[in-house]
Amino acid sequence: MGTRLLLVEDDPAIARTVAYAFEREGLAVTHSLLLGDARAQLRGACFDLLVLDVGLPDGNGLDLLRELRRGAHPTLPVLMLSAHGEEIDRVLGLELGADDYLPKPFSPRELAARVKALLRRAAAPAAAAPPVFHDDAAGQRIFLHGQPLALTRREYRLLSTLLAGAGRIHARDALLAAAWGDDSESTDRTVDTHIKTLRAKLREADPAREYISTHRGMGYCLDV
Ligand code: CA
Repeated sequence: MGTRLLLVEDDPAIARTVAYAFEREGLAVTHSLLLGDARAQLRGACFDLLVLDVGLPDGNGLDLLRELRRGAHPTLPVLMLSAHGEEIDRVLGLELGADDYLPKPFSPRELAARVKALLRRAAAPAAAAPPVFHDDAAGQRIFLHGQPLALTRREYRLLSTLLAGAGRIHARDALLAAAWGDDSESTDRTVDTHIKTLRAKLREADPAREYISTHRGMGYCLDV
């Protein structure tokens, strides 16, 4: 799957130019005009990068940034866009955890160059550092930051399935089939319960971040 970018911008002319510039670079662009739609998009899919305008008709882009950093997307690369000369937005944005900032007006070429730099930066540590998770299939064990997790057999199968499709949303029934097989006693609720204990174990091993995100009505996604 290619690189997915979410663009949140209410000015249609800017959005069109920017989307065109990104698509020429081979990025798959999803465009939201409103914060509300952006929130729904972020719940429904995993993105590699967010380009976020500050002034939007239904609120301030900085509020969404704050939510993401406190919630399910602490490490998603975010580039903020804002009206020329809004120094306060720039400072606030960087304080809240934006990775880069571009004041308007900007050239689409400069934006595309900065986005590519952010994507390179996001990809670099993964290549250099040891993997966050290691699935030892023969031993039915999973290591987080080199330390083995104490998992039950079901939890192992569940996490292993999520790990094999990291970044993708897994429906509850697909997880059920993968981890429980034909056990007819089990339901979607069983999956939720096991995800809960799995999260607690992951949190204990690495309190710095959440690895499993919930996508309402759709399922679960492991973000590495
Ligand atoms: Ca705007």
